[in-house]
Amino acid sequence: MTSDLVKKIERLKKEKNAIILAHNYQIDEVQAIADYTGDSLGLSQQAAEVEEDVIVFCGVDFMAESAAILSPDKTVLLPERNAGCPMAEMVTVEGLRAKKKEYPDAAVVCYVNSSAAVKAESDICCTSSNALNIVESIDNDQILFVPDDNLGHYISQQTDKEVILWAGRCITHHRVQANHLDEVKEAHPEAPIIVHPECRPEVVEAADYVGSTSQILKFASESDAEIIIIGTEMGILYRLNNENPDKTFYILNQGLICKNMKLTSLKHVADALENVQYRITVEEEIRVRAKETLDKMLELSR
Ligand code: SF4
Repeated sequence: MTSDLVKKIERLKKEKNAIILAHNYQIDEVQAIADYTGDSLGLSQQAAEVEEDVIVFCGVDFMAESAAILSPDKTVLLPERNAGCPMAEMVTVEGLRAKKKEYPDAAVVCYVNSSAAVKAESDICCTSSNALNIVESIDNDQILFVPDDNLGHYISQQTDKEVILWAGRCITHHRVQANHLDEVKEAHPEAPIIVHPECRPEVVEAADYVGSTSQILKFASESDAEIIIIGTEMGILYRLNNENPDKTFYILNQGLICKNMKLTSLKHVADALENVQYRITVEEEIRVRAKETLDKMLELSR
């Protein structure tokens, strides 16, 4: 069944001149058939440069929206239309406009995990890979950081700028508590603990290394440690295990599973290609303004 679906996907991909992009948190089978697997920054960079006519985006809706913003002449498909991001939904345009009035001198830095409309209201985007560089590149002394207060807090500890936080966060990473680190340290005292900056401040504080998924992958491949504890969504284990067969990885907590990231199946990908569904488009006026914020970020991330 799986191999039939894989063959069907390969055939349809050629017929439709399509490319499959998948986030590092997708299920193993979907990562395995992707042409490119990466984090939000890497996927945005890919989406901006693809030559194929169709982009099948295996991730959540804001990621496919970013691809549609960056490559408006391509057909962008989200295979599972219910794949959203609870954190992205924690900031609305109306709420952001009200906050901007409270802080008229602040530059708005918008985490890429946000809607196109929120990006359009912001000054510049960032991802967890480049957030500090982006914040430091801005002239304003005051930064309004939306929507992830955990990432915003992590950045605020490394800059002299005043970072105003928004009350939003990733429900998956926020599940990890500091006592989970104590338990794992007791079981594996030699193993470094590496976590994503979407985790709570006290978790980030207690970790040995903090980074985006691409930075976690790099750390793991360069580390001499034989056992490494991973504090991000467990889909990352697919690449960690494939790329480091001589190392052992344990997930920090079993709660590190994002159900939205797990919605997309091989069947959804095949259906997306066959029926050209579900097409993601962004209203042109919003797209143009949102693109400016993504372009500024990509320019600073070269
Ligand atoms: S892991 Fe967190 S930030 Fe990523 S899609 Fe899931 S809820 Fe959103």
